[in-house]
Amino acid sequence: MRTVYLDHAATTYVRDEVLEAMLPYFGESYGNPSSIHHVGRSNKAVMDDCRERVAGLLKVKPSEIIFTAGGSEADNLAIKGHAWAMKDKGNHIITSAIEHHAVLHSVRWLETQGFTATYLPVDHYGLVSPDDLEAAITDKTILVTIMASNNECGTVEDISDLSAVCDKHGVTFHTDAVQSVGYYDLGLDKDPIDMLSSSAHKFYGPKGVGVLFARTGTRLEPLIHGGAQERNLRAGTENIAGMIGLTKALEIAYEEMPVAVPRIRGLRDRLIEGVLSGIPDTGLNGHPTQRLPHNANLYFSRIEGEGILLKLDLAGICASSGSACTSGSLDPSHVLAAMGVDTMLIHGSIRFSLGHRTTNDDIDYVLEQLPPIVDRLREMSAV
Ligand SMILES: *Cc1c(COP(=O)(O)O)cnc(C)c1O
Repeated sequence: MRTVYLDHAATTYVRDEVLEAMLPYFGESYGNPSSIHHVGRSNKAVMDDCRERVAGLLKVKPSEIIFTAGGSEADNLAIKGHAWAMKDKGNHIITSAIEHHAVLHSVRWLETQGFTATYLPVDHYGLVSPDDLEAAITDKTILVTIMASNNECGTVEDISDLSAVCDKHGVTFHTDAVQSVGYYDLGLDKDPIDMLSSSAHKFYGPKGVGVLFARTGTRLEPLIHGGAQERNLRAGTENIAGMIGLTKALEIAYEEMPVAVPRIRGLRDRLIEGVLSGIPDTGLNGHPTQRLPHNANLYFSRIEGEGILLKLDLAGICASSGSACTSGSLDPSHVLAAMGVDTMLIHGSIRFSLGHRTTNDDIDYVLEQLPPIVDRLREMSAV
């Protein structure tokens, strides 16, 4: 049976070139970068080189790059690390209602530790309003954390405007850009973004490695104490293979962006149009144009998304309902709920996220398999 993998927002495969670049660091190049001898020292040079290449692509300084064990850790370090470092200045944090749980649960935990939080609403497209943000800032606000793009509905936030509001009020701005990296330039050379999280396995790198960008002067307390790695911000012997993999994946992503992104967007648009015009009572969740190029979040009225997913899986098609992190729970998506999507439609929503290996044939196959599945499920639910 053929497999059509349309869940790249949950994770991607590792590109061949990336795996190849990593392999020596599981083998002959095993040195600890902190060692004095040449076996270790050569890996120190490799690590410094990764930091420089990543900084170059993101248009920031190498000293502003902190390697972490993924997107969740980068979010935790940015949020808890900054809140802790700033607690003499204030205790108020602002975020949005549609953040990834790595952000939401970090903020909620801080609320049990003497901090207070505001969860900004979003409009029907999932957009946070810069005016709402400005109105929520008080003299106790120490951190604003709003995602660059949403992992479920695909909406791309106005990070440039949101960060400008924070800059005007002298408040630190962090953004979870895990879904955005590889799809468009992040504007770190232009916008007053103080911290940004990313994760390699969302851009065809390995799992378990990410980067937190923290602009010079941004105060952080480490979450993991021990050795002096990552400028005392993240103890532990470095994951050299992971750093190499992340760096290589990021380089390829930036190289291929001008060609790969329009191609994926074209396929994605064909999928959306095919569903909307071919299957009655369907619609698109999220912003119609200001959205990630690989994301199509669609609702199918009168059926359960889980039912569609199981039938699609039998046909070899992998998609998801909500986010990978909340599947298995029957709670409706907090993202679509905050956008005001009807509860029945939330239950009938499915996210298709395309990737670099997705072909025209794959989209044809989905558009051929989907209508009879939806018909059958609707007949069953009508009984
Ligand atoms: C995947 C994801 C994360 C978590 O990244 P991990 O590397 O899996 O920990 C955080 N935020 C968003 C928006 C994501 O899509």
